[in-house]
Amino acid sequence: MTHKIKEFPGTALRESDFAENKVLFTEWTPNAQYAWDAGVAIGRLLSELKAGRIIGTMCHHCRRTVVPPRIFCEWCFRPMDEWVYLQDEGIVNTFSITYVQWDMVRVKEPIIPAVVEIAGASKGMGIMHLLGEVDPEHVKIGMRVKAVWRPAAERTGAITDIMYFKPIA
Ligand SMILES: [Zn+2]
Repeated sequence: MTHKIKEFPGTALRESDFAENKVLFTEWTPNAQYAWDAGVAIGRLLSELKAGRIIGTMCHHCRRTVVPPRIFCEWCFRPMDEWVYLQDEGIVNTFSITYVQWDMVRVKEPIIPAVVEIAGASKGMGIMHLLGEVDPEHVKIGMRVKAVWRPAAERTGAITDIMYFKPIA
């Protein structure tokens, strides 16, 4: 016996449908009190991003610099030895080209997520971000890119303090 996949009935909703009151909804703000801590390593990374810098950590024993930073080395299980400022540029390790954004809405201009190996970190160490100011046809693995930072006054201590990475010669 075979099952046919049925299409889901109903109407697809977009985030904007809520903002534009196209659907009936209710809002409720619960008085939930909790705190969430990013931890020592990611906490430092986020505060450095707010200052316009990318930081990693280095294990002297393994001669390895990692980004995003971690507090211990997962190769030798020792605490990392030092914080290391990295460059705000690197090379494209891998990428994708998508015409669907996070809330599943189709877009005309493609979104290009990529893993960028950050200069100053060990080979293969990088962060996932977006590429911008580039023709999707011209994106290549190994391409050099540089961070485009949000203006300092608008930074919040988040990975989005870098708006995207753009190609450099
Ligand atoms: Zn190590």
